[in-house]
Amino acid sequence: MKVLVINAGSSSLKYQLYNMMDESVLASGRVERIGMDSSIVTHEPADKPEVKNVSEILEHTTAVRRVLDLLTDAKHGVISSINEIHAVGHRVVHGGETFKQSALVTNDVKVEIRKLFDLAPLHNPAHMMGILAVEENMPDIPQVVVFDTAFHQTMPQQSYLYAIPMVLYRRHKVRRYGFHGTSHAYVSDQAAKFLNKPLESLSMVSCHIGNGASCTAIKDGKSFDTSMGMTPLEGLMMGTRSGDLDPAVVPYVMNKEDLSVSEVNSMLNKHSGLQAISGLSSDMREITDAMNEGDKNAKLAFDMYTYRIRKYVGAYAAAMNGLDTIIFTAGVGENSVVLRKAVCEGLTFLGVELDEERNSERSKVTRRISTDSSRITVLVVPTNEELLIARDTYAIIRESSDYN
Ligand code: ADP
Repeated sequence: MKVLVINAGSSSLKYQLYNMMDESVLASGRVERIGMDSSIVTHEPADKPEVKNVSEILEHTTAVRRVLDLLTDAKHGVISSINEIHAVGHRVVHGGETFKQSALVTNDVKVEIRKLFDLAPLHNPAHMMGILAVEENMPDIPQVVVFDTAFHQTMPQQSYLYAIPMVLYRRHKVRRYGFHGTSHAYVSDQAAKFLNKPLESLSMVSCHIGNGASCTAIKDGKSFDTSMGMTPLEGLMMGTRSGDLDPAVVPYVMNKEDLSVSEVNSMLNKHSGLQAISGLSSDMREITDAMNEGDKNAKLAFDMYTYRIRKYVGAYAAAMNGLDTIIFTAGVGENSVVLRKAVCEGLTFLGVELDEERNSERSKVTRRISTDSSRITVLVVPTNEELLIARDTYAIIRESSDYN
């Protein structure tokens, strides 16, 4: 049983082929610069050398065909025919209130995803292109959609409503949806397995700290609150996103600087966060390197960034009336020793005791970085959103009568 996982962007398409018998990755890769001059395909079979080629790929259907050609290629391939692929799972950013879990792609599901284009104009149309491209190349293969928002659909109203006129929620569905749900779901499940405790018995805060960053409060095994909002802009300070700010800043700055809606959107999403405060970079490695060399702006950016994470962990501990486990995951959360130290140092009042030696260990597996006597367990859990997409896809097609 093999499942192809696809993450389609507007000009890129990433893929992984899983063997679900042992959940191993047979091959992975990406197509970049779709629709531009020279598209680049990078294909990485598990047991063979990487292949990279440059050619013209004008749209997603050709991109998927190229991926299928490489997967079945006599020299670089890992399967002998596309018939060996039993299902395709797609990452879809926004499932709105419609999708509370992953779904088999049907005509009705496609209609619903289209209705959500307004809520995620940069992402959902690109995912739809991916779905249609697979349909054209492999018309008989079942497809499943897995949503970044679905895990957060369990949030109570008090967490997801904004205190603005209710008519905006009723008419336009303005509310908190939250993102990174696949990651928060995966790492919380891994954490419970690692601790050998039922997921439902733990109150956790999961900190997904990558280019985009969000904290989620997980209570009774479900998302209870999360820092990203109607869009991924809300909450933590990020690489280039501002995170929380007084909404009155927006009209004020638009007025003073004569900015349009799209300009202010771009300022808050692409020119803020670590990048804006450090004046250097959105990459945490460069920030910490500069900080170590005495750069004051880098230090300020780092302090603001870690302070905001600490504030959310504290707020969620109060929101859940308790906290057992803190999880760090994603590029920064899994790799930055200094970031984890800075966050945890301010949480001693809650009973967080970091073990410096454990925190400094470099490893790619789930591990405890708090001391054995720490009242709150702090874990680093490597995330794997693609594996969760593959698992959901596998589970759904096994259940679906279409497949039997
Ligand atoms: P995305 O949100 O794009 O999925 P990732 O989770 O891959 O992002 O995280 C990417 C970020 O991880 C990079 O911008 C970089 O700042 C950070 N990162 C990667 N390795 C390290 C490291 N060793 N130390 C600190 N930060 C790191």
